[in-house]
Amino acid sequence: MSLNSTPQSVRIHIGLFGKRNAGKSSIINAISDQDIAIVSDIAGTTTDPVFRPMEILPIGPCVLIDTAGLDDIGFLGQLRVSKSLDILNKTDIALVIVDSSLGISSEDLEIINLLKSKEIPYILVLNKIDKIEDKNKLINSTNLQVQCPIVCVSSINKDGMDKLKQIIINNVKYESSNLQLVSDLIKPDDLIVLVIPIDKAAPKGRLILPQQQVIRDILDSGSTAIMTKETTLKETLSCLNKKPSLIISDSQVFSQVSKDTPQDIPLTSFSILFARQKGDLEELVKGTKAVEDLKDGDRILIAEGCTHHRQDDDIGTFKIPNWLKNHTKKELIFEYSSGITFTDNITKYKLIIHCGACMMNRKAMLNRINKAKEYNIPIVNYGVLISYLNNILDRSLEPLLFQHI
Ligand code: SF4
Repeated sequence: MSLNSTPQSVRIHIGLFGKRNAGKSSIINAISDQDIAIVSDIAGTTTDPVFRPMEILPIGPCVLIDTAGLDDIGFLGQLRVSKSLDILNKTDIALVIVDSSLGISSEDLEIINLLKSKEIPYILVLNKIDKIEDKNKLINSTNLQVQCPIVCVSSINKDGMDKLKQIIINNVKYESSNLQLVSDLIKPDDLIVLVIPIDKAAPKGRLILPQQQVIRDILDSGSTAIMTKETTLKETLSCLNKKPSLIISDSQVFSQVSKDTPQDIPLTSFSILFARQKGDLEELVKGTKAVEDLKDGDRILIAEGCTHHRQDDDIGTFKIPNWLKNHTKKELIFEYSSGITFTDNITKYKLIIHCGACMMNRKAMLNRINKAKEYNIPIVNYGVLISYLNNILDRSLEPLLFQHI
């Protein structure tokens, strides 16, 4: 994907699951009308999940996720199956691909049960229909085993692909892509000031994805965005002949920015905007209550949605642990997870602190929050926690018209 493409995190995620050689990669090629996935008759050609961005109108930007076969074998095969199942956590709609000549397998039924339990919409795709003489008989017998939309396709001659796309369009939920970051909080002609520190962690020559996305949302709403660093905020405000409707700050400089922002100008952070768009802001705010109950020896999980190169003063591994230790005056044990896999055992943690999740889709973040809720483990995100520790949580939530708990 090029740097100018729609970020993966705001694309509808369409996961393809099924046994090896069911034709998942061929279907991706047929849907996209391009040879973007490697296809082979050798079972198990797809190993790690592969993300294929494309556009399906009127849904818009999507990503098709090609996964390893659910019947993969051996130690490595089982690891690949487990990675395929991880993909369920970010899947907005699933296609269960079945080789028509073999019929539905126990693996297909297992994944269907998982999809049902996770309330993920799914479509059963009977592939290789060109090998079947009596299509209606097959559909009727399949209908007896599963109650879901069924579509017959042939990835070889591309039969049924338009119907498959239409069924995807009819069944996908648009929620992930419809939630706004900031445009619902501002009006056309508003002036918004963004405070962006350029520190050691800032990538050379560009802004990071959350900043780009907020700027784009502001421009889409017809407002004006101006950017400044925390060191030049006071001067910037004094030069303006119009009062900003909102200041959006990087969380790491929130405390300074709050001091330099007059009380009559609403203030929030990028991270809080993302907490609202990607997850359950109310639950993340509720999680701050756990901070005051932390005791010596308590374990804290710091979870990040992607892996990235860490600087010495990294926010997740250095700044947040130190701020929290200073605030609580307790000897806390910090553990870390990053990337697609969350963590299997969350019950040992007294608090989960999650990053802003800009690289994750809403589905994946909500799954993590729901897992924490299920086990009664408080969860916060970086921005919410930093505001809380700096005693400016109420102020930073106010622009979101949030009913504080
Ligand atoms: S760690 Fe989290 S907030 Fe940072 S870039 Fe990755 S997904 Fe985005």
